[in-house]
Amino acid sequence: MKYFLVILLVAAPAFAQVNRPVDDGSTPVGPVRLTVIHHASLMIEAFGQVIHIDPWGAGNYDGLPQADLILITHAHADHLDPKMVAKLKKPGTLVLGPEVVARSLPGTTVIRNGETRQFGEWTIEAVPAYNLKRGPGPGSLYHPRGEGNGYVLGSSMGRTYIAGDTEAIPEMKALQDIRVAFLPMNLPYTMTPDEAAQAARSFGPRIVYPYHYRGTDLAAFEKAMADSGIAVRIRDWYY
Ligand code: ZN
Ligand code: ZN
Repeated sequence: MKYFLVILLVAAPAFAQVNRPVDDGSTPVGPVRLTVIHHASLMIEAFGQVIHIDPWGAGNYDGLPQADLILITHAHADHLDPKMVAKLKKPGTLVLGPEVVARSLPGTTVIRNGETRQFGEWTIEAVPAYNLKRGPGPGSLYHPRGEGNGYVLGSSMGRTYIAGDTEAIPEMKALQDIRVAFLPMNLPYTMTPDEAAQAARSFGPRIVYPYHYRGTDLAAFEKAMADSGIAVRIRDWYY
């Protein structure tokens, strides 16, 4: 019996299937595909282009295409992984990130809170992402204001909001015309499910994906979103 188990354990990786959640959408201007990779890492394919967001080697990238555009929100290790960026980069790949990312990742084009940049069919807007109150100790925050970015990806397919690591800041609640939103919810670094739900209700996306939620009770988020008219898409980001 012991021997049998050992064989299974050794053999498993060779036969392991990659069960990444994938959502395919169709829009009047073409198809769009979302691939869930891990934690805060995702890939969006549309207009024949590949966008990787916060690529991190803890996720499984086997068989995924390299990036035309890489968006990095901030410098924490679960978001900025220079080795993974190097793997996903090809000639002509644009890497966008805040200054704090550019300092440790040569080749990053800096985009600050409030700035926008055109990339093909996309208008990429960097938006604030920061803690209001949560930090490692008195007077310090996990994510200081102005240091990290969230992103709004605008195109003729509508506007997608990638929140980054943030609490439910006023700038989030004031967002307009968001079709799809990715909201983090984990303590102590970002928000509670209730805070995330309250924020989502304020800016009213059509669809919200919880992400960056390791260890969080997503049922609480679903409950807080009930009857909001906003579709909640729970996917397994930790498969
Ligand atoms: Zn962070
Ligand atoms: Zn994080």
